[in-house]
Amino acid sequence: MPAHRNRICVASHHESLAALREDPEFRELRERPGAGYLIELRLDRYADLTAGAFERAAREFGPERLVVTYRSPEEGGARERVSDAERGGYLEQAAGLGAAFVDLELHACQRSPALLEGLKRARGTGGTKLIVSSHDFEAVPPYSRLHDLRLDAEEFEPDLVKFAVTPATIHETEPLLRLMRDASGAFRLPLLALGMGEAGLWTRVLGPRFPNPAPFTFARGEGAPGTAPGQPTWRELEALYRFGALGPDTRVLGVIGNPIGHSLSPRMHNAAFAGAGLDAVYLPFLVEGDPAAFLRVFAEGLGLAGVSVTIPHKEAILGACAEVEPLAAQIGAANTLIRRPDGSWAGSNTDADAAVGSLEEAMGGSGTLKGRKVLVLGAGGAARALAFACKSRGAEVFLHNRTAGKAENLAAAVGASCVQTSDLDRADFKVDVVVNATPVGMYPQVDQSPLTDSQIVKADLHFDTVYNPLRTKLLQRAEALGRRTLGGLAMFVGQGARQFELFTGRPAPRDLMERVVCEALQARTKG
Ligand code: NAP
Repeated sequence: MPAHRNRICVASHHESLAALREDPEFRELRERPGAGYLIELRLDRYADLTAGAFERAAREFGPERLVVTYRSPEEGGARERVSDAERGGYLEQAAGLGAAFVDLELHACQRSPALLEGLKRARGTGGTKLIVSSHDFEAVPPYSRLHDLRLDAEEFEPDLVKFAVTPATIHETEPLLRLMRDASGAFRLPLLALGMGEAGLWTRVLGPRFPNPAPFTFARGEGAPGTAPGQPTWRELEALYRFGALGPDTRVLGVIGNPIGHSLSPRMHNAAFAGAGLDAVYLPFLVEGDPAAFLRVFAEGLGLAGVSVTIPHKEAILGACAEVEPLAAQIGAANTLIRRPDGSWAGSNTDADAAVGSLEEAMGGSGTLKGRKVLVLGAGGAARALAFACKSRGAEVFLHNRTAGKAENLAAAVGASCVQTSDLDRADFKVDVVVNATPVGMYPQVDQSPLTDSQIVKADLHFDTVYNPLRTKLLQRAEALGRRTLGGLAMFVGQGARQFELFTGRPAPRDLMERVVCEALQARTKG
């Protein structure tokens, strides 16, 4: 990937210019190499704002790094009583100092055209570029309205048009997608269109894939209050999404689920793409409702080449597939979709292969499940994948689930037997392998185990599909009782590695993927 085509603008969250100037994170940003970071100064937020204090901060950070905004009260500005003339004065000062960008609202331009003229004069022959912006903190205006606003903004002949709007769901970002994709020639100027919140994350990252993109996107500082997913930090944009190098040819992939903010798949796949030197980026998509509807509206526009699918969409996503691999059809769930050249989707289930693959490896290699007794705890998606996959390898499968009826239905579909808690306690009950496919023992309930000690001793090998924490209570107890154990990490990395191969046609950098997931899990445990 080419380096540093696009820049990142880090918004100052500080309450005073003094706090901004003393913040070590922002001082570090000033020194970073490459094309360098932009820093947004929000003059309306600073309690100690004076012309002198502003000039001092501007000179310290370097005006050529600054995006200067003095937001009006009606578009979210922090100062209730401020005149356009006062705001204009500061913005003219910024332009006179040679700020990289100065941002003025479209409403203010329409209300007082002299403001913009003043800015144009103040920048003289300097390089300051003008942004005309429009904000909606409640909703996303319909496409026709955004279209007209964009035309209105262009009439003022700024250098960049910016929209920040508030989608409640990812489906509501569709007008932004249409606006960003517009290559009709109706618009001349670069566009920065941002959907706030987690639903709008893609708008912050994928701008460079569209025609006439803005030269930068916004990020928050790592020390900024509030860690809502969807407001990536500059470090995430740089290291996770490699924002600087994204371009029109970058392949876009991602994971769809709800919730999705804590998925480790973006870390794992983006690290794998970077390691393999691929021009590809992988995003989390928070999809509520019908996942097939999301693909219908966004796949073409975002150029999605493939998606991972997670809770709760693994079953419903089958409805979006023109073709489903036989094991996934049998399980009734897919976790991987590949977009075919004709735009249709092919679904498969890499959970199942990864689960039995890691299990067989722990048991001594391929074929070792044949004739073995495997007890699966749970009857949800993971349990279904495991039960069908173990059965297909010749194992005798037993099922135990909190809700007995679900286990009975699954047992009938797989050709397995159901066991009750009383069976697990019987002296003559014995299996080769127990698989925990429930969330029992998963963070934060790390002190729970799905089995008692007297039940644990009835199996030789315990496989916990939970991977957060890496060593669950079940595994700790089984080890203490002299049993062999297998954690869920190998399955998680295995399903991701197989996805990588389906996405790219290349062998997966498995060790790298495992290392990244382990590091992320360890960081979470510490955090
Ligand atoms: P799911 O479809 O929601 O099913 C959850 C199952 O666990 C259901 O059978 C449910 O029983 C049971 N369960 C939930 N809470 C329970 C409790 N407190 N006590 C007893 N049983 C309980 O979820 P899933 O997709 O199958 O995922 C289950 C777990 O598998 C996840 O938590 C995850 O840790 C693990 N997993 C790991 C990987 C991996 O790559 N390592 C991949 C997928 C899943 P009811 O039917 O009674 O509700």
